[in-house]
Amino acid sequence: MLDGAIARAWRGRRLGRVPVVTLMPHSRCNCRCVMCDIWKANRSGASLEQAAVVRLVADLRALRVRWVVLSGGEALLHPNLWALCAALKALPVKITLLSSGLLLERHAADIVTWCDEVIVSLDGTAATHDRIRGIAGAYEALAAGVAALRRRRAGYPVAARCVVQRGNFRELPAIVDAAKGIGLDGISFLGADLASTAFNRPQGWEDARVDEVGLAPAECDALDAVIDGMAASHAADFARRYIQETPTRLRRIGTQFRAAHGLGPTPPVRCNAPWVSTVVEADGTVRPCFFHDPIGNLRDGGLADVLNGPAARAFRASLDMDADPVCRRCVCTLKL
Ligand code: SF4
Ligand code: SF4
Repeated sequence: MLDGAIARAWRGRRLGRVPVVTLMPHSRCNCRCVMCDIWKANRSGASLEQAAVVRLVADLRALRVRWVVLSGGEALLHPNLWALCAALKALPVKITLLSSGLLLERHAADIVTWCDEVIVSLDGTAATHDRIRGIAGAYEALAAGVAALRRRRAGYPVAARCVVQRGNFRELPAIVDAAKGIGLDGISFLGADLASTAFNRPQGWEDARVDEVGLAPAECDALDAVIDGMAASHAADFARRYIQETPTRLRRIGTQFRAAHGLGPTPPVRCNAPWVSTVVEADGTVRPCFFHDPIGNLRDGGLADVLNGPAARAFRASLDMDADPVCRRCVCTLKL
């Protein structure tokens, strides 16, 4: 009993250091992805205001933040993103831009000036990528954007992230080859999120949408076979970490999809995101990670105050990841 109380007190302690902050500078997106509802949010969108960023910088310094990840929506739709980055660069932070890739070419000069690296979404070979993204020519724009970055700065780091789902799981080896063809530095895979209320789906998804994006039980077996085949055909890419995950790690994705059907347990969770990171949305909402409910808003206080306020500390103190339904179905854990 005492051990439990001590553990809760430790989990609910004040955070003096938060190395990673994910900022969503703009809420709107220029893709229409089948596995995401962010693009369905209001058309004008919310933007993180410069005044809020200036206030935020002092908090990021106090919290000894070292890595800022610009996520979205599409961060490149923010009307004043480079002034925001200039403010952030007053700190010793690495800036990573997550992007759909559609606007890379237009903003290439500023991206290589202000961002240390880019991670683009790559969800298939050309036709599949365009279909999943809901944008004709998305793949072509992505490839042109990567080339533009490299013209601005040879060797500029750009990698890919792929959301594995019903519409692309048979193509995984071809997607790795596509990443190489575009000149990307590597690729990582994660399973589509079917269960959370993140990504503008406050009520979660109905079964039909889960079926549309997720894998049927027989398809989970097919995914395992694809991964087994890729372990052989792309052994060198696994060995040199061009593919970030190991084949064993990739097989978690099938386990997650099976668990969504009640066929087997969810994979074990190893994550410390709420203790080493936080997510700040365009309207100032602060979350402990992408998936859990908000713990405050920057309108009500500085980031350090929010992260050490009663709601945040109570959340961390009571969070049992092995039992929490959101954590157990999480597709994007963070372990630092
Ligand atoms: S998955 Fe990313 S790129 Fe696609 S609609 Fe959602 S935020 Fe936009
Ligand atoms: S496991 Fe996922 S949902 Fe749980 S705290 Fe970590 S990132 Fe958040």
